[in-house]
Amino acid sequence: MPSPSLIETGELQVILDDIADRVAGMSDRGKVAQYIPELAGVDLNQFGIAVAPIDGAPVSAGNADTLFSIQSISKVFSLTEALQHVGATLWQRVGATLWQRVGREPSGDPFNSIVQLEHERGIPRNPFINPGAIVVADVLLEDRSSDEAVNDVLNLCRTLAEDASMQVDKAVADSEMRTGSRNRALAHFMKAEGNLKAPVEDVLSLYFRQCSIAMSCRQLAVAGRYLAAAGQNPADGSTVLSAQRARRVTALMMMCGSYDASGEFAFRVGLPAKSGVGGGILCIVPGIAAVTAWSPGLDAKGNSHLASIAFQELVRATRWSVFGPSV
Ligand code: GLU
Repeated sequence: MPSPSLIETGELQVILDDIADRVAGMSDRGKVAQYIPELAGVDLNQFGIAVAPIDGAPVSAGNADTLFSIQSISKVFSLTEALQHVGATLWQRVGATLWQRVGREPSGDPFNSIVQLEHERGIPRNPFINPGAIVVADVLLEDRSSDEAVNDVLNLCRTLAEDASMQVDKAVADSEMRTGSRNRALAHFMKAEGNLKAPVEDVLSLYFRQCSIAMSCRQLAVAGRYLAAAGQNPADGSTVLSAQRARRVTALMMMCGSYDASGEFAFRVGLPAKSGVGGGILCIVPGIAAVTAWSPGLDAKGNSHLASIAFQELVRATRWSVFGPSV
């Protein structure tokens, strides 16, 4: 059996067009996230997919250039920003390393669950559930204001995507700021346990705004390539993360990136992934490409229903699962 490799562009285009055609005809499209009012109005009838090879131009199908709210996918970039810029000296000042304040285990609970946090004394299971990302946001605020930190995460996305146009969607951020009581509860609980340093509203202002960055499938796939390329930005060869850190981020994506369905996603697709309630899923194909699929309708666990199906189809056609091709 040959090992997986990048498929020739024409063949990949046929695969993506075929996936887009098939999902277009599906009647069960999931449900848009209702708890963020601004997302509740997004048109369900949209689907896009883009593959960004580490050494070639992106290939896409469907609504691959439509902007959507990246939501929890931003947690990959905020973690990258924290790992990249917060050095050993700062950790000493903070008094604990990132990994003493956030775990590295799947939670098995919903992304906004409060119960586990109480049992575990305010230490979130991993950086990809909401409380974990809120701690990462707090770490970023050790040496900058929340406005500066939003710009840093945004600029990281812009640099990685080679596209300076992306912005925070202010309407979505305001919507979350108004209605984010559950995230406030998580943050206040961690503050009470001594695991947040900055004022809760400053941390949440960063967290809600990073979640509200709007990107397209194509931008997000290009931005994710460093994780497929051992931490190097394929655009210019610069180091975004060390190879070891990039490997760790992708390991976390595999184990914790799809809410309490991370095991199911690994079972069905077999790629490190991070999903968001905006309906996007970013997957990493190590050594080959980053891929984003998007459709706003979610399944019961909060993962995009059609994007999940699209990834199952993609790995079947490309044999890109890290666990080996399906027969
Ligand atoms: N901003 C969303 C929240 O905090 C992110 C959720 C997600 O995409 O998982 O609830």
